[in-house]
Amino acid sequence: MASDDWTALSRPLERALGKRTAKALERLGLKTVEDLVLHFPFRLAHRGELMPISQVREGESVTVVAQVLSASLRPMNARKGFLLTVRIADGRNELGLTFFGKAMRPLQYHERRLQAGTIATFSGTISSYRGELQLNHPEYEIYDDEPDLSKISQPIPIYHATEKLPSWHIERAIAAVLPTLTAADFPDPLPAGYRALHHLPSRFDAIHALHQPPEDKAWEQANARMKHEEAFVLQTSLAQRAAQARGRKVSAFPATAGGLLQAFDERLPFALTDGQVTVGGEISSEIATCVPMQRLLRGDVGSGKTIVAVRAMLQVVDAGGQAAFLVPTEVLAWQHLRTIEGLMGELAMGGQLGSSTQSTRVEILTGSLTAGQRRKALARIASGEAGIVVGTHALLSEDVQIPFLGLAVIDEQHRFGVDQRDSLASGVHTLVMTATPIPRTIAMSVFGDLDVSTLRELPQGRAGVTSTLVPLHNERWMDRAWERAAEEVASGGRVFVVCPRIDADQPEDAEQSEESEQLDAFGDDEAPTDASRLASSRAHEQEQLNVPGTDIASKDEVHSAVATHDFLTGRLPGITIGMLHGRMKPDEKAMAMERFASGQAPILVATTVVEVGVDVPDATLMIILDADRFGLSQLHQLRGRIGRGTKSGLCLAVTGVASGTLAHDRVEAFVSTTDGFELAEKDLELRSEGDVLGASQSGGQSHLRFLSVVRDAPTIEVAREASRALVHDDPDLTLHPELAAAVATLDTGRAHYMEKG
Ligand code: ADP
Ligand code: MG
Repeated sequence: MASDDWTALSRPLERALGKRTAKALERLGLKTVEDLVLHFPFRLAHRGELMPISQVREGESVTVVAQVLSASLRPMNARKGFLLTVRIADGRNELGLTFFGKAMRPLQYHERRLQAGTIATFSGTISSYRGELQLNHPEYEIYDDEPDLSKISQPIPIYHATEKLPSWHIERAIAAVLPTLTAADFPDPLPAGYRALHHLPSRFDAIHALHQPPEDKAWEQANARMKHEEAFVLQTSLAQRAAQARGRKVSAFPATAGGLLQAFDERLPFALTDGQVTVGGEISSEIATCVPMQRLLRGDVGSGKTIVAVRAMLQVVDAGGQAAFLVPTEVLAWQHLRTIEGLMGELAMGGQLGSSTQSTRVEILTGSLTAGQRRKALARIASGEAGIVVGTHALLSEDVQIPFLGLAVIDEQHRFGVDQRDSLASGVHTLVMTATPIPRTIAMSVFGDLDVSTLRELPQGRAGVTSTLVPLHNERWMDRAWERAAEEVASGGRVFVVCPRIDADQPEDAEQSEESEQLDAFGDDEAPTDASRLASSRAHEQEQLNVPGTDIASKDEVHSAVATHDFLTGRLPGITIGMLHGRMKPDEKAMAMERFASGQAPILVATTVVEVGVDVPDATLMIILDADRFGLSQLHQLRGRIGRGTKSGLCLAVTGVASGTLAHDRVEAFVSTTDGFELAEKDLELRSEGDVLGASQSGGQSHLRFLSVVRDAPTIEVAREASRALVHDDPDLTLHPELAAAVATLDTGRAHYMEKG
């Protein structure tokens, strides 16, 4: 026999379990004993309480525990052969099983085993026959009347399985290898003290409890332990990163009196908001020291982050440094250049004729500069003449020398990878800004190495918006809504009426709709997706849409811009109703906006094409039809179009869905707060985890198997505190080699997902 060089964990499954089983397991990507024991069940089943058949879906591989109601064997009608049909039930719902065969015998075997009353686990792929879901030739395992009563109460782990490899085969394979392993095979990254404090089992015990739980509680504790482990390792990695960054010394840029910053503040046409003052103070004192600032500034679109950044940059320039402003797109780069130059006025005319002595230059670097322009810009940057450089990733190229760089501002960080951040911002003060309403827990997981500041209020004494839910089927409310629109127009206001689709023919795609909502949840200041992508899956019903005079949409129908425009034209005679949607030509859109802004057509029926940039200060009322059809943060962005002037806004979220449904909950959440961050957190709560992890930069499946960044905030916080303290005392983790190893493994994977940006 050949010598066995493998450790207990690295042993190939073929050696441990034989060729056939190994082959089947390989289909799940499991090759070694370690792979197998780290393949965990995703839920528990119980012999007493049967699993819900109601949750099975066509095309899915399922495992259900159910009881046989009846079995009948008969010859097939149209073809030769026999058919065994079995009805099973889980106490609430029934499901049919079918077995076909040329010969009667094998079917008789199943019939004998599957007598009425038999309880078994059935596993197979759900298919549909004549509109009914069923399982064809499922695998099944009958629970014999075990004399061992203790085992009856023991939960059954259910693994993600395939038709060829039902859950209980995996269970048995694991049972075969587990006894060959010892605690030494599972070094524990969690410090013993932390485990004791939170009553967490060791890694070894947890792995056993996950596969062979004596009872639910042990399984839950094991799950909790794994969550803590994932949170702890991730937070340790982030804490190390932060500590390393802080360990480097950088130049200090103390605030100076009588410099550009002071002149800038004096010429600002408005007062800073309290938030801008507070955050500005934090930043100012941080860049005044040699400890590199590592700060994330979150603030809704329009909260005034740019000014905070410009003020910090000017403090740096005043103290003899340079500052770079990295943005994700060319368009944004030019927009920022114009904004900054506009705010600075003559302070930005450094080196130009007639410029005040107290000035600097703002340079732009993007991919679209000609070679000549680029050369000149580079020279002015290299000489220090340009104090501020705005640019896209072109800023990061090697020939760009910013010799006195002291502050890097990175706008919309989520578009950049950690490496890009490092390449500009290592060894300098760093300010990262985002308008994405990232919930706190995700911020802690993704930007955990940064300190977080938040701008919560919007500037310029905006009167703000009140939001109200309006039930579509309450005629009085709807009448009142349209009356209100007329009143608003009469008093010189403008009214948006937003619809989820353009017209009945609008092509639709349910999947796309989901995708757009997912993107939307992490949306930034770009235009919301066009309504077409949010179209419902009920186009055919749209044809029955009632036309003018009556209800615009009865139950189950979705309002379209075209029909709503017709309806309102009849409903509000004397008021010109405009229309704006994604299928109009650019000049038609511009015309519609102009007529709306000028008051020629003071009511605008629009799809979500009402972009973020749209700024009509007189717009005071927004009626969103079928509000349940929009993503929460999209609703929030839409609402941001009104109440921009001195008059407060009213947003009516109209929905026909019944209260108590998830869709209704979302609309309720929307009207209950105007805080974009709170909304983002609610959005997460109301979404399924899969959506969130699939769409966000949180890395998701790549390394978080147990931890939910949505639901496990307390765990994440506890782990964050403890890991920071640990890194503070033991920065290189010399006293925690198991943790160090886990962090090293994680960092490799993490570098990967952060790059996707
Ligand atoms: P964002 O946070 O989305 O980057 P901006 O910095 O672009 O927001 O600011 C949005 C608008 O608000 C700009 O026109 C800016 O000049 C204006 N603004 C910023 N701060 C104030 C303030 N304190 N008072 C009035 N207007 C302000
Ligand atoms: Mg901005």
